[in-house]
Amino acid sequence: MSPSTSQVTTRSPDETIAYGRGLASELSPPLIILLRGTLGAGKTTLVKGIAEGFHAAPAEEVTSPTFTLVHEYRSPRALLYHVDLYRIDTERELETLALDDLLAPNAILLVEWGEKFARLQRDCDIEITLERVGDTGRTIRRSVR
Ligand code: ADP
Ligand code: MG
Repeated sequence: MSPSTSQVTTRSPDETIAYGRGLASELSPPLIILLRGTLGAGKTTLVKGIAEGFHAAPAEEVTSPTFTLVHEYRSPRALLYHVDLYRIDTERELETLALDDLLAPNAILLVEWGEKFARLQRDCDIEITLERVGDTGRTIRRSVR
């Protein structure tokens, strides 16, 4: 994926979804992608676009895995795992999710709140950070590690 860092600002949820659709064409498994940003920054909204880009699920079917922790979306090109670690506080709880077992050669892990854990921070391939700019602006910065 190139360039190694890039930044855009979207002006609506739909623009963020469109950005995610475009991003999908640049992503090849296996990958661990950390999605960073505060609550409401747009992490889950971005995953809607990525899932659409992979023809894995329509945007409206992609919902937050805050309580279910992991959602899976299948496409011919990749298995997408959308993970939300907001409610996970300890390494031990993280272990119970067995994320390592998900990382098959055709898997892409899209992890919200993964930066809470040093190991995920270390193992991730791409970091995408979303930041609010006013009500409906979001700056999306991605960096390849
Ligand atoms: P997170 O997963 O980071 O907590 P969500 O994607 O669930 O965030 O929520 C983002 C919220 O912000 C949604 O209600 C969405 O409609 C709203 N929003 C407003 N503008 C944007 C934008 N430009 N990009 C993404 N979401 C936006
Ligand atoms: Mg979310």
